[in-house]
Amino acid sequence: MTSMKKKSQIILPAHKTKIVCTIGPASRSPQVLKKMIASGMTVARLNFSHGTLEQHRRDIRQIRRVALGMSRPVSIMIDLPGSKIRVGTLHIEPILLIKGEMVTLTIGDNPCDGHHIPIDYKQLPDSVSKGSIVYLNDGFITLRVNIVDSNGVQCRVVSGGPVFSHKGVNLPGAKLFVDSVTEKDLFYVSFGLRENVHIFGASFIKNADDVRIVKEFAEKNGEYVHVIAKIERGEAVKNFDAILKVADGIMIARGDLGMEIPIEDVPVVQKQLIRRANLAGLPVITATQMLESMTENSRPTRAEVTDVANAILDGTDAVMLSEETAIGKYALEAVQMMGKIATSIERRRNGVDFRCNLRESFTDSCSGKKLSVADVISLNVVEAAEILDVRYILTTTESGSTARRISRFKPGCWILSFSKKKETVEFLPLSYGVYPIFLNNRGKSWHDPILRFMKTSGLVTSKDKVILTQRRFARQKGGTDSFGILTVGLHENHSNPGEPLKII
Ligand code: PGA
Ligand code: MN
Repeated sequence: MTSMKKKSQIILPAHKTKIVCTIGPASRSPQVLKKMIASGMTVARLNFSHGTLEQHRRDIRQIRRVALGMSRPVSIMIDLPGSKIRVGTLHIEPILLIKGEMVTLTIGDNPCDGHHIPIDYKQLPDSVSKGSIVYLNDGFITLRVNIVDSNGVQCRVVSGGPVFSHKGVNLPGAKLFVDSVTEKDLFYVSFGLRENVHIFGASFIKNADDVRIVKEFAEKNGEYVHVIAKIERGEAVKNFDAILKVADGIMIARGDLGMEIPIEDVPVVQKQLIRRANLAGLPVITATQMLESMTENSRPTRAEVTDVANAILDGTDAVMLSEETAIGKYALEAVQMMGKIATSIERRRNGVDFRCNLRESFTDSCSGKKLSVADVISLNVVEAAEILDVRYILTTTESGSTARRISRFKPGCWILSFSKKKETVEFLPLSYGVYPIFLNNRGKSWHDPILRFMKTSGLVTSKDKVILTQRRFARQKGGTDSFGILTVGLHENHSNPGEPLKII
């Protein structure tokens, strides 16, 4: 975390798109972590579907140590497993399924042989019926249900392959009789809170209530958490508007989503969800298989590079690496590749971009409704920043919402976001183009401390214009109500440094 006490010079990354890296054997050493952070990783994701708590604890501490040593803001996100249905334990593995053969999915303690596969979901017979599709091994094996009876669910193999223990099972479109948030998830939330982690990915959620369960659980423990709602079920897509109202961020979890809804629908759903999350001012992560071939190869495919680029053009705040950085042979190279793609696309996005378009749709979507003061400020800040070609937008932010509202319009300059709330600073590394700075300001005005900080940061020259948003008139906390345009250097010689900012 960057702080006032540590007056190290800030070096901003070459790209504003944020990179989420899943940490695992390929990336947990301090040497690799350091290089990944230096290459633009801003969020470390710990996947609690794998690994031991002891290992996760060591990872959390290691990531913090390395980030602190580099004075870089890096968030830690715990990805909760949720209620993913899995293959049970196979005594002999793999079981090889051959196209055209019959196989029975069992839910009891039946013996598992080459023709019986245990599934860890007791209500499986209630969720499927004749003709239903069942995917095993992340969709590489397809079964079609033939008969549901007391022995289990008999299926014909549509496309075969090897089945291993604990691999994922997907039942596209099926009604599921499980709680999305499990006891185990809540146990992991308590673990995270004890380790001072406040960002959680909620997997397989169906609706806003599932997000609320995690938030309320934390609240009962006297803690605030940021919940990233992972959209990986058809029901979550349907309930997206309600989810946006309670979640703190969104993940387009294309791995499972691509099995739960038709895979060919994913690209347009991605675009729609990103846009709606942008309009709502929530950070959105695009995830899974972005540079998957780099798990094995030193260079990605053209299609993967284009996918990362398109997600950025769609307006994603962050792009995510999973196996690539967790177990891949080229973890660091994958982060560097993402950084290179982001840098190139951000430079070229003018012209092919939706930015103005998003501002237009924002005002359109608000027509007839009352725009909030904060929304009007964000629109005007971005417009002023463009017209005047300012070097930075400086925001003071209580909850992070001022910075996020500006970030959604993807201004060309960085948004340096000052806050004295640690949890706000911790969550802002997920938002496009936002660089959070912890500033323990005890006074009422932020103007002087921020300008003092800017002068020692090495970020500005005396001629650079900046925009500073502030709460000047509103009584309530967090009520940004004005912004000023100033030249940091001019104030250096000013006889009255406390002079009010020019109010627009
Ligand atoms: P997972 O989530 O990697 O935890 O499955 C992401 C996805 O499904 O895309
Ligand atoms: Mn998933």
